[in-house]
Amino acid sequence: MNQQLLFIFVFFDKKQKHLQLLLLFILPFICNAQVKVFYNARIFTADLNHPYAEAIAINGKKIIAVGRNAEVKKVAGSAAEQIDCNGKFLMPGFIDSHNHGINGGRGLTKANTSDQLFKVNELVAYAKSMLQKKEGLTGDVLVIYGINISTWAQLDELILQFNKDEFTTQPVVLRGSDGHTSWTNNAMMKRAKLDKPFIQSLPPEDKIYYGTTQEGEPNGFVSEKGFRTISSKLVVETDFSIAAEKTMEYNNGLGITAFLDPTVSTLNNTRIDYMDWYRYLIKKGKLTAHIAGCVVPDLEADPQQQINSLKALQKKYNAENFSIIGFKIFGDGVIEHPTHTAALSIPYTGTSSKGVLMFDPKKMKRFAIAADKENLLVHVHAIGDRAVTETLNVFEAVRKANGNNKIPHSITHLQIVLPSDFERFGKLNVLASCQLLWAFGDVTTIDIVQPYIDPSLYKWQYPARSMLQAGATICGASDWSVSSANPFEAIYRAETRLGPLGVLDSTQCMPRLEMLYAYTINAAKAMLAEKKIGSLVQGKSADIIMLDRDILTISPEAMKETRVLWTMFEGKKVYEVLQ
Ligand SMILES: [Zn+2]
Repeated sequence: MNQQLLFIFVFFDKKQKHLQLLLLFILPFICNAQVKVFYNARIFTADLNHPYAEAIAINGKKIIAVGRNAEVKKVAGSAAEQIDCNGKFLMPGFIDSHNHGINGGRGLTKANTSDQLFKVNELVAYAKSMLQKKEGLTGDVLVIYGINISTWAQLDELILQFNKDEFTTQPVVLRGSDGHTSWTNNAMMKRAKLDKPFIQSLPPEDKIYYGTTQEGEPNGFVSEKGFRTISSKLVVETDFSIAAEKTMEYNNGLGITAFLDPTVSTLNNTRIDYMDWYRYLIKKGKLTAHIAGCVVPDLEADPQQQINSLKALQKKYNAENFSIIGFKIFGDGVIEHPTHTAALSIPYTGTSSKGVLMFDPKKMKRFAIAADKENLLVHVHAIGDRAVTETLNVFEAVRKANGNNKIPHSITHLQIVLPSDFERFGKLNVLASCQLLWAFGDVTTIDIVQPYIDPSLYKWQYPARSMLQAGATICGASDWSVSSANPFEAIYRAETRLGPLGVLDSTQCMPRLEMLYAYTINAAKAMLAEKKIGSLVQGKSADIIMLDRDILTISPEAMKETRVLWTMFEGKKVYEVLQ
């Protein structure tokens, strides 16, 4: 229909009078042609005032009515397209408040075990199959991404298996799915000149990043910035156009229509830059999610200079569905053994180390106050309780200096949070961006955490319910590709906390409805986009998903298995299961 009309437009192009008459005649027709009514549905709107509805009408990219069947049909008009949903479940597209977007898509183009729990012999079999197929190689090195971090509990076995047969000469690097850890075999260590003399030459504060044997030989385990020793010898080539498209496909397939990408670029000396690839998607008409990006600053540099650099990026890259909204800052590392870089208030058991607070509180306060003044959001990675407390101290200083302004800053991960900090989130208008897929009883929360930290800290692992009750706004987040971005699995874990090793503190289980708000309107707030997305309300973007079951009434086990039937972004279906 629109193509025919376009032809008429072209035909009448020079005859202005006729064109005006024609427009008068056909405009209502065009508008109605874009109006669609989805009725007989069970709808969760994520609008606190009217959480449930039967029908929704959209016109092009926008929602024009939500409510009962009759009233919505009336608003849409008789010419609107009518779609009978036969009682199916609709809700707003999910929003992920911490999702590494194109970096995750890049992982989908490489050898990648996607955080699955593999035994070492299974990992060896996978590695051999990739070598045979010559797939997913990084230059001539086999880098396997997405290694489940519980694998580090089997270092001896890794050392044994990946240094014999073809691996004697084949360099192998295993990249932990947490993005902070890795292990590398002897052939790769040799290439990177990672040996005993190198370790001995390091200043004491840098030795923590390298695992060693009792004799002081490196055992291949490398964390955080220690990885630069390895990465400097890797030639990483990625077809980012494929990675970018895979990013959209993957997220849309899970019903995700918006996310905050915490690292679209960096202003320090690391070389991360994904903005051109979001722009590529925009140009191709393939950006099928609203993206809010953060940039990693150099906290050592002058804050104003960093803010100016960010503003220059905004000017260059901000577009209709892509905006750079602020800064991402690392508060600390990760807690699990053997890394122990998360900043704790009590030393790791049997050591004098309290982990690594990655910012200087004084400099950080100065920086955050300056950013907040310019309406730029500050999003902080904090895992250990000391990193959380210090970050909240920073935001307290921000509010004191600038008043409680409109920018809801956020803290993500929040593995250990002490009760004395629970109320501060709500009071300071700091959002809690939580990856509750991780809050369950398994090796990563028990075996490689519990023996290594003080019981008084361990007691408060992922204390989502307590934070909620104390007034915190919980925002759904995945940290993809650290782990799956599947919101149904995350909601299942949040409400059961059940894993292979049992339930991780049942008092912290989250109500399902709170999780649905967490993954919609609350996460929209974390993207500074709640006026545009996050609930099914008149005037907002027509980002809607249809599910294969009614997730308000099913068991947690059924929740985990939920599938998206279709995903609509700005009124267009961008994913659909063929039935
Ligand atoms: Zn992350």
